[in-house]
Amino acid sequence: MMSQPRTTPSLLLLPLLLWLPWLPHILGQNVPFEYHEYSQVTQVLREFHQNYSDITHLYSIGRSVQGRELWVIAISDNPTVHEVGEPEVQYVGNIHGNEVIGKEMLLHLLEYLTEGYGNNDTISSYLNTTRVHILPAMNPDGLQGSLEGDCYSSIGRENARSYDLNRNFPDKFEVNTQLIQPETEAIMNWTRNIPFSLSAIFHGGAMVANYPWDNTPYEWPVDLQSFPDDDIYRHLALTYSLNHGNMHVGDVCSGDFFEDGISNGADWYPLRGGMQDWVYIHGDCLTITLEVSCCKYPTQDKLRDHWVWNKNSLIELLLQVHRGIKGQVFINGTDTPVSGATVSIGDRDNSFHTTSAGEFWRILIPGQYSVTVSKAGYSSETRTVTVPGNLTFSAVIEDFYLVENGTNSALNASESTTGEYTTEITPSATVGREARHLAGNGCRLQMADYLVTLLNGALIMLICTNHVL
Ligand SMILES: [Zn+2]
Repeated sequence: MMSQPRTTPSLLLLPLLLWLPWLPHILGQNVPFEYHEYSQVTQVLREFHQNYSDITHLYSIGRSVQGRELWVIAISDNPTVHEVGEPEVQYVGNIHGNEVIGKEMLLHLLEYLTEGYGNNDTISSYLNTTRVHILPAMNPDGLQGSLEGDCYSSIGRENARSYDLNRNFPDKFEVNTQLIQPETEAIMNWTRNIPFSLSAIFHGGAMVANYPWDNTPYEWPVDLQSFPDDDIYRHLALTYSLNHGNMHVGDVCSGDFFEDGISNGADWYPLRGGMQDWVYIHGDCLTITLEVSCCKYPTQDKLRDHWVWNKNSLIELLLQVHRGIKGQVFINGTDTPVSGATVSIGDRDNSFHTTSAGEFWRILIPGQYSVTVSKAGYSSETRTVTVPGNLTFSAVIEDFYLVENGTNSALNASESTTGEYTTEITPSATVGREARHLAGNGCRLQMADYLVTLLNGALIMLICTNHVL
């Protein structure tokens, strides 16, 4: 072939060269170590969803004050549905718009997980047994007003109505009179709708893994031992800090010292209306707050270092969702799940509740635990469960079968002569089933009391005329 004029190849290549910076995005690979403003976050999420459509699900949980969608990308083998028994994880970045490192780390984590599925055994097994939800930017309006290189100011921290979203949640210990913002409302609805059992919220301006409570009913200094789940929270926080490039050192940022790089939130400084306390209480979800950069908005050249420091921590924390105990609660002798049952661990003064499928999860450090499952209208059950030290892709599975109290009273009646029995039955649906059961066993229900039961949802009078049950 004749050689071409020297200028031709470069002219032919020109359109391609113009596209080169965009190629990684088009291919859904190699998220560049560059900051992503809101529209670019959206673009990255869309591209990853297109390129990994089998294992990702892109959805919005609501809109910011200025109308920006709050995008979440879920990653799992069946990303669009909750699979019974499978734990769900929530990672949230950029609650303060000017604290941006978490947002970027979550985009790199998205890349790491999606590319690892099918290529890395740990990631594949994890995503086959877990669903991870990533919300890179909870406060996109604040983000748009923030400035690269601004380490210390509060410009961009709040939402578009000047509310600090990490002071905007209903509080456990005090009345919070703040008007709940759309971004906060979206998080609350999201957390109520998906049974998350592990959550992490990313901030900047310090270097510490911080855990509940963020507020306290006590005078400072705080009695840390009185906090429920303090042991597992210390474990989760240490999992992050000890796997991080330098968080565990404790004095990375000038002026701060955190032993091993962790702190109880209220022990650092109490705050009202924080997100982690609300998600913990109302989501039945262990939640920690991760401060991952001394400078809130460092210059872009620092991003690669931050990813190197945070990568193992992000992965190791995800794996912890499979510690502890999980299971389902059923009506004894049936496959009918019991929703809203209380699952208590020892004498911890907090309880978690079963989902509509009767599921529960309790992340726990290794050891022996007394687990009690109870619900009004049912006998409670207490069982000792051993949580092993080794970590697999499932917590210890313990299913519980609760006996309805009404059934008990009928059985008790069989041992006696004709008499009147009162039993506590809460949901009206149960009353109907109970009435049918007892009618078939020679008991009749006093209609007046039955109506009282439906109105008050509490007491019902049973009259058994036939003691041979
Ligand atoms: Zn913050």
